[in-house]
Amino acid sequence: MKAINKNDFSEFVDDLIENDDREVVGVQTKSNEFAFDPLKSAEDLRLDYDVTILPPKKYFMPQRETLVEYNLNEGETTPVNQVVPRIIMGIHPYDLVAIEQMDKVFEDTHEDPYYLEKRRQSVLVGVNMANVSDRSFAHTMGTATTDTGYDIMLTDIGDRYAIEVGSSKGSNLLEKAGQAVDDITTDEIRKVKQFKEELPKKFKKDTKFDPFELPSLLKNYYENDEFWEENAEDCLSCGTCNLVCPTCYCFDVQDVNDISLSEGERLRTWDGCMLEAFAEVAGDENFREEKAARYRHRYMRKGRYMYNRFGDIACVGCGRCSEQCLPDIADPVEVFNQMKEGTS
Ligand code: SF4
Ligand code: SF4
Repeated sequence: MKAINKNDFSEFVDDLIENDDREVVGVQTKSNEFAFDPLKSAEDLRLDYDVTILPPKKYFMPQRETLVEYNLNEGETTPVNQVVPRIIMGIHPYDLVAIEQMDKVFEDTHEDPYYLEKRRQSVLVGVNMANVSDRSFAHTMGTATTDTGYDIMLTDIGDRYAIEVGSSKGSNLLEKAGQAVDDITTDEIRKVKQFKEELPKKFKKDTKFDPFELPSLLKNYYENDEFWEENAEDCLSCGTCNLVCPTCYCFDVQDVNDISLSEGERLRTWDGCMLEAFAEVAGDENFREEKAARYRHRYMRKGRYMYNRFGDIACVGCGRCSEQCLPDIADPVEVFNQMKEGTS
C-alpha cells in the first residue's frame, strides 16, 4: 500500500488533465447532485460524494452509439466503434462490483467488442465511500468494499489518500505521480482498516437476511401474483429504475436510414424491461403486457436469473433505483424484506 498527500494528488490529477492523452473524467457536482463528467480541473473532483445519478457504465455502454454505418448504393457496411481512452476517477466499490458483473455478461458467449474495447482502454480509479446515500444498502449486499475490480483504490485517511494498486494499469498510472507517492505508515494502514470496519455504521438501510437467500426466495414468490400486483400498482412503467442501475445492460438496436433511404447507421440505445414495449414481438404480441409481470421480471433478473447464470446477485445495493423512482416503489430492500417476512 502507498499514500499521497491530498495537495499532491490534486496536482497529479491536474497534470493528467493537462498532459495525458486520455480523457480524465470524475465525479462532480451537477445541479445539487453528483455525476461522472469530464474534468476541467482537480478542484471539481468530489471524492466525498454519496452517490451519482448514473453509474459509470455509460462510458462502456453509451446511452446511444453507432455500431455500423452503411451505404446501400455502394453495398458498403463500415463497423464503427468510437472508443475514447479514459481515466475514470472516484468509482465507489459497489459500482466496481457492478462493472465486474457487466464484464462477465459482455464476455459471455458472443464477445461484445463495443463494450470490451472501451473497458480495455479505461483505467478505473476507485474510492472508498466517505459518505453514504440514505437509500444505499451496499454493506448488506457485500459491496461496500471490494478487493478487486479497480486499477487503483483510494481511501481518505485525513491529509493523505491511502492507495491500493489493483493492476499493472494502476501501477503505470501511479508512476506518473513520481516522487509524490510515498510508502504508507503502519498507523495509516490501521486507519484504512478502521475506515472499512466502521463503514457499515453509516448505512441507514439493510436487508434482514443473507442476499444469497434471494434466488430461492424469489423462486418461491414467482407465482405469488397478488404480491407482485400490489407492489407494482403505482408503477408508471417509466423505466428509470432500469436506466440508473449499474447492472442493467439491456439495449435495443435499430437501423436509421437517412432521407435518401440509401445511407444510414445501425444504432444501439439503452432499453429496459420495465418499459411496456420492451417485450413486444411481431404480430403485436407482448409477452410481459402487465406491469406486475414486468415488475416481477426486474426482481427475478436481479436476484435469481443472473445468479443462476453467473453466480452473481445483480443488485449491488447502490440505492439509485429507489432514489429516482417517482412513486417510490422501486426499493429492492423493501421488496426483499417483505418477501423474507412473508416466508418466516
Ligand atoms: S418501479 Fe418506479 S422507476 Fe421503475 S418503472 Fe415503475 S415507476 Fe418507473
Ligand atoms: S436494483 Fe437498484 S439498488 Fe440494486 S443495483 Fe440496481 S439501481 Fe442499485
